[in-house]
Amino acid sequence: MKTLKDLFQLSDKASKNLEKGILAVTLTNIVSLLSVVVVVNIFSEILRPLDNEEISWNKMWLMLLVGILLAIVNYFAARNDYRKTYVSCYTAAEDSRLRIAETVRKFPMSVFNSKSLAEFTTNIMGDCASIEHSLSHIVPPLIADTISATIVCICLIFFDWRMAVSIFCTLPISFLIILANKKLQKKLSQRQLTDKLKASEKIQEYLEGIKLIKSYNLAGNKSVELEKALRSLKDSSINLEMKTGVVISVAQFVLQAGIGITVFVGTNLFTGGSIALLPMLLSLVVVCRVYGPILSILTLLPMLEHTLVSTRRIKELLAIKPMTGEETLPDAYDISLENVTFAYEKTKVINNLSLEIPEGKVTALVGPSGSGKSTLTKLIARFWDVDAGRICIGGKDIKNIDPENLMSLFSIVFQDVTLFNDTVLNNIRIGNVNASDEEVMRAAKLAQCDEFIQKMPEGYNTVLGENGNTLSGGERQRISIARAILKDAPIILLDEATAALDPENEIHIQAAISSLVEGKTVIVIAHKLSTIVDVDNILVLDKGELAESGTHTQLLLRNGLYARLYNLQEDSKKWKIA
Ligand code: ADP
Repeated sequence: MKTLKDLFQLSDKASKNLEKGILAVTLTNIVSLLSVVVVVNIFSEILRPLDNEEISWNKMWLMLLVGILLAIVNYFAARNDYRKTYVSCYTAAEDSRLRIAETVRKFPMSVFNSKSLAEFTTNIMGDCASIEHSLSHIVPPLIADTISATIVCICLIFFDWRMAVSIFCTLPISFLIILANKKLQKKLSQRQLTDKLKASEKIQEYLEGIKLIKSYNLAGNKSVELEKALRSLKDSSINLEMKTGVVISVAQFVLQAGIGITVFVGTNLFTGGSIALLPMLLSLVVVCRVYGPILSILTLLPMLEHTLVSTRRIKELLAIKPMTGEETLPDAYDISLENVTFAYEKTKVINNLSLEIPEGKVTALVGPSGSGKSTLTKLIARFWDVDAGRICIGGKDIKNIDPENLMSLFSIVFQDVTLFNDTVLNNIRIGNVNASDEEVMRAAKLAQCDEFIQKMPEGYNTVLGENGNTLSGGERQRISIARAILKDAPIILLDEATAALDPENEIHIQAAISSLVEGKTVIVIAHKLSTIVDVDNILVLDKGELAESGTHTQLLLRNGLYARLYNLQEDSKKWKIA
């Protein structure tokens, strides 16, 4: 059972349920095998007149009664096995899905960088469905069939070993055929699952980018990619089914040759006088009865190999190390970076960076595009762990702080605002799920959202469509600020809008941000340098290193990178369409 538990990554509960399922299916199989005993007894009675003996009608009635009883027991056993098996498979799938979702939450962002969203969805839905299927339709019958076939085999050996050998002589060859093709089966299964994943990625990409596709007239191009992925999936699925089908058919054909061999050997032994009629007939009944479960084993084994590819993927996913840390939260919020180095893949994005961000002040991050500003804020919030050096908040290394608690220190207002298909009220409440309606509305007012929300058909109870499609960029950002105000975290990470907002929106957003940042430790990624002339401290990044730091006036006097960037932006304001 431990192997099954490991193989399918089952929880204790799911593994116990699976045990019950297997026991129930085995019981059903044994009960149905007992019917063979009844048939044999009836046969032996019917054949009595051949030996000039009388048929015992008492025994015949008794057999009829036993037969009826067995049918009733069989009904209840089958019902029980149906229940147990399905309870076990759905519990296991539910457990696995929850376990994956729970584990994924604790992964560092680096995992999401290297794996697509479609891959996680496939893991949670597809691979778990595969486990669900194996635990209901493959594993219990496979084990139960193996047990019942073994019991029959042992009984037959004691009954007449020669007939037993003729019944089972083709079995090893059939298994060898299946086992010899295991590698091919694994390769084909892997290819089909990879194609399935690629197809889901392409479908997701196609649906997410539908706006872009329409506006840039990419329809032809993108559909070609989608079509290619779907065609590839079709080809690999057909290939898998066809080749597996051929292997199974050959193995089944070889096994069934055993029926002919049994008839041949039985007739020879009977005519030679070394076996009586009854045992010979009995062997013929058994050969037909026992081949059922064996044929099913031969079909189930390749199916099991296919699902094992899915379980291996889940195993790999669950083996990823989650972020750890046990320390409690700090009570001061100054942030310091000591010789921090970080790379997403190979190229260093942050290079031996050391800096201080004081508590309760506004610090602006400035620098050319790609200099590492966003990366730095994400490292501070521990979306990723640094490769070298350390980041401390209130003197505590964030690597040692419990990651579940760490996020409560931050309110994050980035540009990519995710909105859910829920009411405006609940979309803002994400900032603090325990907030009352009044608190949510107060935050919305401070974030300058109230006016546009009141204009919606049902005000705060209006349901925003899929990812809030109906809202403008500025409105989305204000909702995100309202969330942050509601969260009331001590550190604010703010990515100022890069996109040009209309003047009204810009004024609203500035007012909203002023309400948000009051008295907090603020790190703002500044794109428009004119908005940060009054901030307490400006850090200028260049190629992941600290190029300069100081106030706006100090940096202008220095006449370095900051002064150059500032003057460039001032000049660009004078630009007009010719
Ligand atoms: P900035 O915010 O200053 O524009 P970023 O921190 O966004 O700079 O990016 C710094 C570098 O890291 C860029 O070269 C960018 O392409 C790269 N980068 C940013 N995010 C990722 C990511 N998720 N995976 C790989 N590379 C990334």
